[in-house]
Formats: sequence, C-alpha cells, structure tokens
Amino acid sequence: MDKEKIAFRTKCIHTGNGIDKETGSIRRPITMANSYRLPEDASTLDWSDPNQLVYTRNTSANQIYLQEKLADLEGGEDCVVLGTGVAALAGVFFTFLDQDSHIICSNVSYVAVYRLLHEYFPDKYGVEVTLVDTANLDEIRKALRPNTKIIHIETPGNPTTRVSDIAEISQIAKSASALLTVDSTFASPFLQRPLQLGADLVIHSLTKYINGHGDSMGGAVIGRKEHIDKIKRQAMVNLGGAISPFNAWLIMRGAVTLPLRMKQHSESAMKVAHFLESHPAVAFVAYPGLKSHPQHDIAKKQMTMFSGVISFGLKGDVSAHNTFVNSLALIVPAVSIGHDESLIVYTGPKDERNHFYPEEFKNGHLRFSVGLEEADDIINDLEQALEKCGL
Ligand SMILES: *Cc1c(COP(=O)(O)O)cnc(C)c1O
Repeated sequence: MDKEKIAFRTKCIHTGNGIDKETGSIRRPITMANSYRLPEDASTLDWSDPNQLVYTRNTSANQIYLQEKLADLEGGEDCVVLGTGVAALAGVFFTFLDQDSHIICSNVSYVAVYRLLHEYFPDKYGVEVTLVDTANLDEIRKALRPNTKIIHIETPGNPTTRVSDIAEISQIAKSASALLTVDSTFASPFLQRPLQLGADLVIHSLTKYINGHGDSMGGAVIGRKEHIDKIKRQAMVNLGGAISPFNAWLIMRGAVTLPLRMKQHSESAMKVAHFLESHPAVAFVAYPGLKSHPQHDIAKKQMTMFSGVISFGLKGDVSAHNTFVNSLALIVPAVSIGHDESLIVYTGPKDERNHFYPEEFKNGHLRFSVGLEEADDIINDLEQALEKCGL
C-alpha cells in the first residue's frame, strides 16, 4: 500500500502498532522495564544513544511506538516524546538557545513558557528574550536581531485563543535563519499541520487532546531528524524528563480516536460559543471559529475546524464568576483541556501575565474546554448556572 495515500484516521489506528513477536498479540504490549539486555560486547556501545534500547531514560519500547505514530500524524521525519508538554518545550529551548542567543516569543503563552523565557533563561543564562504579540507580523519583524535563534508561537494560544499566522511567520523566520517552533497543543495534528506551513518544530502537550482522556501526561516535539536527534541527545538523555512506558501506552491508545474526538469537540464548541455570544450576561467570547474573533480569517486558512477551547467573561465581578462556576452541575472546575469531560477554570485579575492580556481579559476570564458530552447538555448546564449569577 502506498504510505503517502493513507488517510489521517487510518494512520491514527495503525501507525506504531504491530504484532507482538513473542505472543502474537495484535496490540503491542506495555514494556514496564527500566533496563534492557546489553549486547554481548558492550565495549563499543554508545551508552547515551537515544535510539537504542539500553535504559528507559534514553528511550523505551512504548516511547518508540508513540514517536513513530506522532511523526506520521504531523508529517515530520522524526519525533521525541517526553514526560510532559513542558519537558518538551524546555527541551527545545535548552537545546537551541545558547548564552548569546535571542528568542522571540508570543507574549501570552503557556505559563511555564512565560516563566522560562521571561525569567529563568534570561536571569540564569543571559538569553535575550523579546515577548511580542505574534498575531502582529510587524511586531515580530521589528523584534528580529542578528542573534535571533528561535521564533516561538503558540496557536491557538492558551488562554486567549489568539491565532498566529504560521505560514507568514515561517517566512520571517527563514529570512532571519531562525527556527520557527509552534506549540500546536490546542489544535492537535487533526486540525492544523504546522510543518506543512513551514514551521521547523511542532510541540504538543500530549496530556491534552492527543491522549484525550485526562489520565496521563506526555509531551512531544516533531520535526527534521537532525533537530530531533539533538533534542534527544542533549535534553532527553541529560535533563531526565522521560515518559513512563505506561503513559506512552495510554497516549497511544487515546490517539486512535483523535479524529472522531476533535470533530465532536469542534462541533460542540461552535454551538456553545454561539450560545454564549448571544447570552446577555456574557461580556465577551473568544473562540477562533466565531466571526468576531480578531484572527478568524487566519484560523480559517490554517485550521480545518476550531477545536474545543473557548475563553469568555461575564458582566460581573470575581464573586459572580465564582457563583457561576460553583453552580455548574455537569461541567467540572479543574485545569487542563482536551479531556472527554468538560472542564472550566476561572482565572481572576491577579494572573501574572495580566498586563499582556487583551483588554477584555483583564478583569479575569473563564477558560472552558468543551468536552464530548451532548452539546445540549453542556448548554443547559451553562444556562442554569448563568441564571444563578443574577446578572
Ligand atoms: C498544557 C499545555 C502545555 C503544558 O503541557 P503539560 O503536559 O501540562 O506539561 C503546553 N502548552 C499548551 C498550549 C498547553 O495547553
């Protein structure tokens, strides 16, 4: 069969799975070993070879199967899987930034990325960092320096859902000989393929949509083999953020249904976003699928659907938001996104990144991860909780 022609949802099922040689089982087993039998002559062994089964911090069988699947789904040459999304992001920055490097990053990004680049990398290692609104191409162009090594974007961004133009930014990165790294966690490879749009590295928190069931953690970087090998040799082996074989197996299992889930998340989120936008107690709704979203046209250009995360705010104070969240019966107040169940978090105005947020977010906002429940049940739950706020 021509591998090029195999459809995405077929790859989700088959890539990385195989027949177990020992038992003939049609599912590859979980190999819960931290060490592997050495060759008879180990005197010439590369002890830190990240592609050979020696020691599970250097790589494990289940990690290798998952890497194969994710590289195929993103259309990349190779993949490295680590213990969390943050381990993957930190691994990229650790590997490609030096003391005299400069990085440009979205001013609103995942909070650990913000802290690494706003505080730790500059303070400890003298890395130069410019945080800009990467939805604005001119701001990126103006921020370029001769030593710019990376442009890092998160699109859609957490929690603002702001969208950055991957194809345009990849041109800017190329002209400056910098790498474009894209945190594509909110989209998953089913909705957005950054490598095809010119990005150099794609990063995912596997904890979210790719696993999809809220029961494990993982992170991945996908890109050209030379880059991935570097991350494996430097960050994976020596920083120690390995994934456990069991978590790799769970994520492998979750990824099988990724296309079905992403379709449902996206369809339900669209319905919920329209409902929220029409409700008199709602102050604003940020969802890339809405015409009112500032980068709706870019989202339409680079995503096939708009995923399941909506940010919004109520026309009320902190206590009205708390009443709303605590009146929800079905939707669970908890962090994380991309689970089967709907999750909501209220972040008040004291967020450390508040000064970077778009104006409407500054009084605090709700980040809502629309789950796989019946959309009408989700809407009914929101409606009854909104009624209790007295707005
Ligand atoms: C959750 C998240 C991360 C971090 O992933 P972990 O698996 O929690 O370490 C990074 N980026 C985005 C966009 C996220 O939503």
